[in-house]
Amino acid sequence: MKLVLDLDTGVDDSLALTLALASPEVELVGVTAVFGNVARDTSARNSLAILHMLGRDDVPVYRGRDRARTADAAYAATHEVEVIHGANGIGNVEIPDAPRGPEDQTAEELIAQAIERWGKELVIVPTGPLTTIAAVLEADPSLAEKVGGITLMGGALAVGGNVSPCAEANIANDPEAAAVVFSSGAPITMIGLDVTLRTLLPLEATARWRAMGAAGRALADITDYYIRHEPAALDRGGCVQHDPLAVAAAIDPTLVRTLSIPVKVDCAGELRGRTIGDKENLLTGPCVKVALGVDAERFEQMFEERVERLLTSVAQR
Ligand code: CA
Repeated sequence: MKLVLDLDTGVDDSLALTLALASPEVELVGVTAVFGNVARDTSARNSLAILHMLGRDDVPVYRGRDRARTADAAYAATHEVEVIHGANGIGNVEIPDAPRGPEDQTAEELIAQAIERWGKELVIVPTGPLTTIAAVLEADPSLAEKVGGITLMGGALAVGGNVSPCAEANIANDPEAAAVVFSSGAPITMIGLDVTLRTLLPLEATARWRAMGAAGRALADITDYYIRHEPAALDRGGCVQHDPLAVAAAIDPTLVRTLSIPVKVDCAGELRGRTIGDKENLLTGPCVKVALGVDAERFEQMFEERVERLLTSVAQR
């Protein structure tokens, strides 16, 4: 399968990218950079640096949107976000810059061309705000029915939010963009807090990475920072796996059980950023496949086995 990852790279985005690189089914067509956990250009820098660290300077990186649709200035991470992901987005761990920069072509051009070229073979995995994807679908609405799938990390249907009582961070960062994507008619799978909060990456796993060369040690340092500062699962001995679960579900949709339902995104007032069943269109659609069940054990085994195989092979090069 062909994959485009749309990342706001961030710690769990780095892990999602690592899982994609570790997956033999995946041909990674490109990585696109959006704002969110970090500013857009930091996202591009981090994706390039992680790709370099893992020996994949062949995967092109493209710049997407640098601010929400309603914002009049480029996004900069808030203090709260910098605490969770580190001021540099990757746990304040210093890893070398890649010997190259992002492509001249924009993320929007890449995504539109990739959909036209690969069609149903292509799945797009956004793990940040949906600003770039919305721009692509608005510029050419016919792309929605051509793409194989959009498997996104974001939202919360039957559980509360993580940045407000009802909003999840990726949606809250650009609710208007999310509303465009959710109503586009594209085949969307929503990997939200309903399922990601049930996953775990345990400290035992990152401890094993430390024996797997320089890349393994760096990835362990990056992840351990996140485990200490995003304490949602610290009492379970690790961190939850928001973004990697979206990549895994794109590769193997049987990892999650979904409910097909039209989803509305609230854009006003204190409910801004909420994802909820769209009562005006409940019987007419278009539907989003909302993941409400997850085989967490099988996902965790898949993630750990694949990442460890990749880190071991990088260490032996
Ligand atoms: Ca992310």
